[in-house]
Amino acid sequence: LRFDELSVSEDIKNAVKDMGFETASPIQSEAIPYLLEGRDVIGQAQTGTGKTAAFGIPMIDKVIAFDKYVQGLVLCPTRELAVQVTEEIKKLSKYKKGVWVTTVFGGDSIERQIKSLKAGANIVVGTPGRVIDLIERRALKLENVKMAVLDEADEMLDMGFREDIESILQETNEDRQTVFFSATMSKPIMALTSRYQNNPKLVKV
Ligand code: AMP
Repeated sequence: LRFDELSVSEDIKNAVKDMGFETASPIQSEAIPYLLEGRDVIGQAQTGTGKTAAFGIPMIDKVIAFDKYVQGLVLCPTRELAVQVTEEIKKLSKYKKGVWVTTVFGGDSIERQIKSLKAGANIVVGTPGRVIDLIERRALKLENVKMAVLDEADEMLDMGFREDIESILQETNEDRQTVFFSATMSKPIMALTSRYQNNPKLVKV
């Protein structure tokens, strides 16, 4: 699949070009069309396959620019991954004005994160514990989230984040699109799927 065949806005295609991507990777070719259609997806893919852009491109496309509520949420197991995902989403959204991405994770000033949320972030990437903390402080409101992504879902479950993940998903809009990426398809992942996804498409690379 070529990126110029995708039905996403020109500003995203231009950003993709700047990043030097020519053709979509297998996970992107399979997942992006489903995600643009509004389907829930389980992507079985490792890091290095292009999974970030696979969910990042549709998420950016769906954000209503300049609307200052959280529309896209990405949960990551670690701060390092959260920072990496944020950088990729920032690059992909650089020509789409009114898309504001922020990262929230533990071990860093919560006040600064609260400020950036207040400034109007419409895509939030974060680790589960800090996301819960910010919800409890009423600094993060998720009722308008249209797309929720669990990146490296198996890692998050292994790290004991299941309850946090469930509480977070319960804060989001019931009509949201729910996307899981995981290197493995374990029983606990399937349990989350049946509870929080709606007729998901399994995409494997
Ligand atoms: P990820 O699996 O999301 O961590 O991506 C791995 C690396 O591949 C990142 O540096 C991406 O920027 C890059 N990448 C993602 N999609 C493509 C693509 N279609 N063509 C070339 N590089 C890509």
